[in-house]
Amino acid sequence: MPDWSNWSGRHRLHTGNLHFLRSEEDAAALAAKASREGLRIRTAGAGHSHAPLVPCEDIIVDAQALAGVLSVDKEQKRVWVGAGTRIHSLGAPLNDAGLGLHNQGDIDQQAIAGATATGTHGTGPKLRNLSAAVTGMRIALASGELITATETRNPELLQAARLHLGAFGIVTALELQLRNAYRLKEVSSRSNLEEIAERIDAEIAAHRHFEFFWYPQNDMAFVKTIDETDEPAQYPLAAEGSRLAWSHEVLPNHRPHKHTEMEYSVPADRGLACFNAIRELLRNDFKDVAWPVEFRTLAADDVWMSTAYERPTVTISVHQTTDEDETDYYNACEAIFRAHEGRPHWGKMHYLNGPTLRAIHPRWDEWWAVRDSVDPNRTFLNSFLEGLSTSRR
Ligand SMILES: Cc1cc2nc3c(=O)[nH]c(=O)nc-3n(C[C@H](O)[C@H](O)[C@H](O)COP(=O)(O)OP(=O)(O)OC[C@H]3O[C@@H](n4cnc5c(N)ncnc54)[C@H](O)[C@@H]3O)c2cc1C
Repeated sequence: MPDWSNWSGRHRLHTGNLHFLRSEEDAAALAAKASREGLRIRTAGAGHSHAPLVPCEDIIVDAQALAGVLSVDKEQKRVWVGAGTRIHSLGAPLNDAGLGLHNQGDIDQQAIAGATATGTHGTGPKLRNLSAAVTGMRIALASGELITATETRNPELLQAARLHLGAFGIVTALELQLRNAYRLKEVSSRSNLEEIAERIDAEIAAHRHFEFFWYPQNDMAFVKTIDETDEPAQYPLAAEGSRLAWSHEVLPNHRPHKHTEMEYSVPADRGLACFNAIRELLRNDFKDVAWPVEFRTLAADDVWMSTAYERPTVTISVHQTTDEDETDYYNACEAIFRAHEGRPHWGKMHYLNGPTLRAIHPRWDEWWAVRDSVDPNRTFLNSFLEGLSTSRR
């Protein structure tokens, strides 16, 4: 039995150094001690990243005890929440306060600090990723200081750390921008790609959320649209594709089948062309792949390391079962994604090095400079991030 494993089981660790945090003070003291002793720390969320972001030679911190809604500002529609709060346990208390997240991803199992660490997103051309919703952070730094970063206090730290990759310190709490609670109605259908291509721009524009999964084995797609509604919620909830309920009840799905995943964000106007190139690749060279390809949209944002930084985006995900070696397939997909100016999802698989990432992230150097200023001894980098960082200049 490993002591720690990510969701897919691809990253398994046998380490005696798992630390279960109990308080912010505990986080600050642990960070300072590790820094003094030259040890590395990584904080785990729910372990749903495919990229090796959490594995670490020295200490892995579990922050799930730092959970719950800490305060609610109804006027500004903002809340402070514990960093380890699972997204699924935010829905009901926020809803009780008349509030809701603007959007959510495909599942709601992640810790909020883990989801915002990697730019986790849902779908919707006007909806930004979860990192863009972060308006405040509390972080235990390597110095032992518990720092608060908001739009007015340490604003540059906030700007950099909204998408933090666990590299600034132990995040203990986050402030999120919400909106009034709302209900959603989901509609799904099966379609072929030629039909989808004919109406895709109109469909994207017409709905709050639009997405499809294309299944290569039968060349059909499962299309889903979701829109706001005043209709009353219907319980028990219907199956995925037909739900009508509060946003936190409709947006998340059940994804039990273990897989690995690569996802790239491409400029929105190249989305369909990129998707078609991936489809041709599967039809010609990877006929055995049974896993679907997912197409979603994402609004531009101003989060420094976001894959949607200053550009309207389409995200395309490819999957493979954990029993199969995905390398050839993902390498071939990555070549196509890169030819379409793609940026890889931080929580998923990619094979890019530091210089390449630097070339596609306009704020790369500034992000690293702010990070280095709060963690000069690199207490919060593991070998994966160190590998990306050392080759950056
Ligand atoms: C089945 C499945 C479905 C998914 N669906 C989507 C989707 O729809 N959209 C999407 O964009 N992504 C999706 N993902 C990817 C997932 O949302 C991201 O990888 C996310 O970062 C995982 O969050 P986590 O809580 O599991 O964090 P982890 O994977 O445990 O950690 C992620 C990062 O957060 C850091 N971290 C976590 N907590 C803290 C803390 N308190 N302080 C400092 N650093 C911290 C870690 O160090 C690491 O760098 C999916 C993944 C899976 C397995």
